[in-house]
Amino acid sequence: MTQGHQEQGPGHQEQAQEHQGHREHREHQERPLLNRRLAGFGTTIFAEMSALAARTGSINLGQGFPDTDGPEEIREAAVRALRAGHGNQYPPGPGIPELRTAVAAHQERFYGLTWSPDTEVLVTTGATEAIAAALLALVEPGDEVIAFEPYYDSYAACIAMAGGVRVPLTLRAPAFRPNLDELRALITPRTRLLLLNSPHNPTGTVLTPEELSGIAALAVEHDLLVVTDEVYEHLVFEGSHHPIAALPGMRERTVSISSAGKTYSYTGWKIGWVTADAPLVTAVRSAKQYLTFVSGGPFQYAIAEALQLPDTFFTEFREGMRRKRDLLADGLQSAGFRVYEPQGTYFITTDISPFGKEDAYAFCRALPERCGVAAVPNSVFYDDPEAGRSQVRFTFCKREGVLEEAVERLRRLG
Ligand SMILES: *Cc1c(COP(=O)(O)O)cnc(C)c1O
Repeated sequence: MTQGHQEQGPGHQEQAQEHQGHREHREHQERPLLNRRLAGFGTTIFAEMSALAARTGSINLGQGFPDTDGPEEIREAAVRALRAGHGNQYPPGPGIPELRTAVAAHQERFYGLTWSPDTEVLVTTGATEAIAAALLALVEPGDEVIAFEPYYDSYAACIAMAGGVRVPLTLRAPAFRPNLDELRALITPRTRLLLLNSPHNPTGTVLTPEELSGIAALAVEHDLLVVTDEVYEHLVFEGSHHPIAALPGMRERTVSISSAGKTYSYTGWKIGWVTADAPLVTAVRSAKQYLTFVSGGPFQYAIAEALQLPDTFFTEFREGMRRKRDLLADGLQSAGFRVYEPQGTYFITTDISPFGKEDAYAFCRALPERCGVAAVPNSVFYDDPEAGRSQVRFTFCKREGVLEEAVERLRRLG
């Protein structure tokens, strides 16, 4: 484990008290503004690389936001709600009933899962707040949280804010599969929670039914909670998405998280949700109500409609993204990158070793100047810097013309 962990680990509290007596004698200036839990979480890599892309006028394949808006009719639904005064004042804390009902109906329609809209669904400010609220609610300082690495960057920060100890289960190139023997070996009496993400950002790994059963069996055996981030549930190109909450013994221990941002291409609206057994939803709501209380009133009405779009919407969205994936994967390969083809999400992880370079961060910092394209280094999503040293992530949620232009620019690298 890295230094960061040790600072947040068990024993941290006692140490802090031990030093209390010395504190008065210390120089005031010695104390940094940012507290110890957040040390090292200054600026997200997405903000850094997007700013660089903007400054250099580069094509931004770093941050994962689409360059076209989602369905027109859903935007119109938001406008209608706004004009009708629906949601312009504080909506109910758990979310408007229409949206909670639509979330429950969507889970039943796609996965056969049944949730009570009244007690087992919670609307959040994007998946980001759902993740934060779940960890703040369920993790006691010193609890260990096992998460796949490379991890989505907010996981590490939220585990730290909750005072938890991050324990990485490394997904290794080229296959990026979780090794269940390794997972078993990471579980200790202090393990509280498994933080899953499938389809997985940034590697595109989609957990198979066998892997999910194996993980579920370990969770049941060791009585662990599971928080599962499924924001890319509708972007699976190989196989299909299986919520772990549907497996035996999992309903009562799983907090499932999704969001409208990725599925409906409205990442700015920040409408997310949690589905779980009532006691878990109650616990997560306890934290959530003191974070934002509520948000996105009129957008909640629009997303309630989005969740009821016909199956063809979801199929066309996925097939459109599949074409973009193939376009960018082929292009990156022709430009000289080693490409790890994703089974899901809208990201492609590559390896830059063929260019004779190994440091992904340095590569990404220089890329906009070199050829007018911005990407994100995966190395910052690993605790073990060696594991992702030469990995660079590109998103393909952009118009095909933009992807083609980016590929042409990247070809100049060779
Ligand atoms: C984008 C993303 C999120 C954040 O979702 P919001 O709804 O925008 O808050 C969470 N998890 C993963 C894996 C993501 O890629």
